[in-house]
Amino acid sequence: MSTKRIGVYICHCGVNIAQTVGIEELKSFAATLPQVKVAENYMYMCSEPGQELIRKDIKEKKLNRIVVVACSPRLHEPTFRNTLVSAGLNPYCLEIANVREQCSWVHKDKKVATSKAKSVVAAAVTKVALLEPLEEKEVSVTKTAMVVGGGIAGIQAALDIADSGFKTYLIEKEPSIGGHMMQLDKTFPTLDCSACILTPKMSDIKNHPNIELLAYSEVADVKGFVGNFKVTVKRKPRYIEEAICNACGTCAKYCSIAIIDRYNEGLSKLQALHIPFPQAIPAAYVVDPEECRYLKEGTCRQCEQVCKELNAINLDMQEESVELDVGTIVVATGFDVFDANRKPELGYGRYENVITGMEFERVVSAAGPNQGELLINGKKPKEVVFIQCVGSRDKTVGNEYCSRVCCMYTAKQAHLVREKLPDAKITIFYIDVRAFGKGYEEFYDRVKGESVYYRRGNVSEVYKKGDKLICRAEDTLLGKPIEVPADLVVLAVGIQPSAGARELGKLLKLSTSPDNFFLEAHPKLRPVDTGSDGVFLAGCCQGPKDIPDTVAQASASAAKAVIPLAQGKVKTETMVARVHEQACRACGYCVEACPYDAIELQLQEVNGREKSVAVVNEVLCKSCGACTGVCFSGAIQQTGFTDDQILAVIGAIGKEY
Ligand SMILES: Cc1cc2nc3c(=O)[nH]c(=O)nc-3n(C[C@H](O)[C@H](O)[C@H](O)COP(=O)(O)OP(=O)(O)OC[C@H]3O[C@@H](n4cnc5c(N)ncnc54)[C@H](O)[C@@H]3O)c2cc1C
Repeated sequence: MSTKRIGVYICHCGVNIAQTVGIEELKSFAATLPQVKVAENYMYMCSEPGQELIRKDIKEKKLNRIVVVACSPRLHEPTFRNTLVSAGLNPYCLEIANVREQCSWVHKDKKVATSKAKSVVAAAVTKVALLEPLEEKEVSVTKTAMVVGGGIAGIQAALDIADSGFKTYLIEKEPSIGGHMMQLDKTFPTLDCSACILTPKMSDIKNHPNIELLAYSEVADVKGFVGNFKVTVKRKPRYIEEAICNACGTCAKYCSIAIIDRYNEGLSKLQALHIPFPQAIPAAYVVDPEECRYLKEGTCRQCEQVCKELNAINLDMQEESVELDVGTIVVATGFDVFDANRKPELGYGRYENVITGMEFERVVSAAGPNQGELLINGKKPKEVVFIQCVGSRDKTVGNEYCSRVCCMYTAKQAHLVREKLPDAKITIFYIDVRAFGKGYEEFYDRVKGESVYYRRGNVSEVYKKGDKLICRAEDTLLGKPIEVPADLVVLAVGIQPSAGARELGKLLKLSTSPDNFFLEAHPKLRPVDTGSDGVFLAGCCQGPKDIPDTVAQASASAAKAVIPLAQGKVKTETMVARVHEQACRACGYCVEACPYDAIELQLQEVNGREKSVAVVNEVLCKSCGACTGVCFSGAIQQTGFTDDQILAVIGAIGKEY
């Protein structure tokens, strides 16, 4: 093995490292380690002068391996790899000794921290001497994107990607795009009509030359990697030819089966053959196969008769499978509202006049079941109570997080009650009010000024007394129990991850945070990336958000998704697993252990003999090391973390310094 010329560069990180680790002592120690030719220290090694110090020494002192003694490699490994490249050295001839997180931040005693730092530096020097230069590879990118979920997040992301000039598939599981925003009446804090600001964007989706909308469809399989995903999409049968239907509605007039109208939250009915709502995109009818008499019992087919001329109805339609090649993916699967039945003490499902916030949106909407009149059982309520934090900030239902929109949508809904019923008594029970967005505090103040009575307290029970509901709570400001009568109780149900997202998450290998929303790659620095390269998050699938934040995040995701498409190629992982074919016994444990499906057994010629061996697809390998852990013959090794390297590090760290 050739002699290495190692340089060790110790960062003070201001006082972050220097106040707990003896820098001079560490430097003198590093200089004594085998093959170390230079040991230096600097206030901020990541600064330009710090990096220049390394570059100069590489050139002048002919260093060929570098150890940077600083913070976590998660932060600055890419910075220092670039430093090596700019000095003409292979970027993988670098090792980071993390003495900040591992020594100075976890020890108070300088002696202990310095002694531990010596071990960490000795281990890094031992390892860097065993590293070999590696070659970075690139693969070309399919210049097409896929967005999953057609709520406002998916709509915005698809439009932005398509406007950048790239073909975009938008996959929506429901018969129409629009998501929850389409169900809202007005939107806080500006009180814009929700449908009025959403429908132009929905039309843009339909008319955009770069967008192909696959509604009533779900992703069934995803293979491949960033730049080259192969996606299978299942298209559910609509039983209506989307391209032919002109949404005249004649067929529905002849359909005698009435079903729950989900758009109106079950507060009205429509036909088994229906259009989800008048502004639906695609503007085509759909048949509910669970309810259609022909599809269930084999009789009827009346609708086909009345559409004979256009011939848009096809009750023999079957599910279709479509294969798509895409380079990047935006996940925008949104949310489900909390199921209020899980809080039985609040009377939902038992009393007709206890409704959810989403049901309230439909009740007051001009396009809703009452044409916008606020009627409960045909009567105008005189006393209205809103209860906040239903299913949010509530450990008893497993949702500790704040849903971020309920305080404001409750304020909005209280304002709408005041607008429609000037004499109504309005009470809002709250834990504390979170009015954090632009113009939100001002809107909250405005609503308080409209004789809306905010009472601090959690409602423990809603029960019936005569023809009134009684909300029992403790007013935590007065410190006494109270009972408030109501004709209408509105539960401010929170937001939870969409049930439709779970399977997709598995296919895309997305992690979730403890609240079950999809986890971003870094909460501050990579808020729309995920752990799966080329897959980005937009909207409420990543966590509860209002519309402005959803739209902003969707545009951010689109911008990220466009980068690889615009570049036309992506770098693959360099430190991949490699197989020693002679040692491989083809047991297949590594194939099972690999979470990325990157390994398979193949027949290969090894030393003139055909044998089955594990073969790593280097483009799919994410260098997690799971395969090396289960390989009992040591045939599969992780580049940069081989058994020899790890054992040498353990040997170095175990010594007394
Ligand atoms: C009662 C209530 C009132 C609100 N009022 C306001 C307001 O006034 N102002 C405001 O700013 N915000 C308000 N919000 C918040 C607002 O609704 C959200 O910010 C917004 O809808 C988030 O959009 P999204 O696209 O992320 O999710 P969604 O609207 O949930 O859209 C997600 C879409 O993805 C689809 N989907 C799910 N899974 C899959 C899958 N596997 N494959 C394909 N498609 C899938 C769904 O069918 C849906 O179309 C309110 C929320 C509630 C609950």
